[in-house]
Amino acid sequence: MARLIDLSHTIEDGMITYKGLPAPVICDYLSREKSKEFYEAGTEFQIGKIEMVSNTGTYVDCPFHRFADGKDLNDVDVSRFAKLPGLVVKADYTKSLAIGSEYFKNLELSGKAVLVNTDWSKHWRTDTYYENHPFLTEDAAVYLRDNGAVLVGIDSHNIDDTRTRRRPVHTTLLGAEILIVEHLCNLSLLPERGFYFNAVPPKFKGVGTFPVRAYAELSD
Ligand SMILES: [Zn+2]
Repeated sequence: MARLIDLSHTIEDGMITYKGLPAPVICDYLSREKSKEFYEAGTEFQIGKIEMVSNTGTYVDCPFHRFADGKDLNDVDVSRFAKLPGLVVKADYTKSLAIGSEYFKNLELSGKAVLVNTDWSKHWRTDTYYENHPFLTEDAAVYLRDNGAVLVGIDSHNIDDTRTRRRPVHTTLLGAEILIVEHLCNLSLLPERGFYFNAVPPKFKGVGTFPVRAYAELSD
C-alpha cells in the first residue's frame, strides 16, 4: 500500500487566505433538521452551501487565471494534475525570502512537480503569513520553465513577490502552461524524491483557480 501525505490546509467558514479577498461562507442549504420532512423517520441529510472566491485554501492556478485565452480548469487535462513525479527543494525562508534559480541547478526537473519547501506554512492563519513571505524570482521561473518542470508548488502565501505590482513568476509559468499550487503545507514530511504529487480541482468552465486536496503518494 502506498503511503499518502496530505499537503492541504483545512478550509473553514470565515477563514482568510488572502487579505483583501473575502473569507468563505460555509453553511447549510438544507439542514438535517429541515430534511426530516422529506424522508422517512431516522433518515436525514445535509446539503451544504459554499460562497467563496476561487483563491481559497490550498489551490491550483491554471493559465486562465493570468491569461484571458489560457486554459481553464475544464481545459487542462486531468493528467496535468495527478500522478506527477515529485521533487522537493528546500529553501528555508529564514535564510532568504527570494528563491533564485541557484536552488534548482543540477536537479532533474523535466516532467516534475517541483515543490518548494520554505516552511512559511507555519505562519498560516496568523498576520505574519500575508506579508514579506518567501517567493520565487523571475530567473527561477525562467529556469524551471526552460528545464521542463510541469508544475511548481510552494508552501508560501504567493509564488511571486507581492511587495511589488509585478507578477513575473505567474506570467512565466502560466504562460508556458506550467501549473502553480500555492499555500501548500506539510512539505517537510516528504522525501526529496520518490513520490507522486496530486492536486486535482473540479472541472469548472471559465474558472482559472480552485482549491485542491493536494497530496503526495510515496513509492515504497
Ligand atoms: Zn497564484
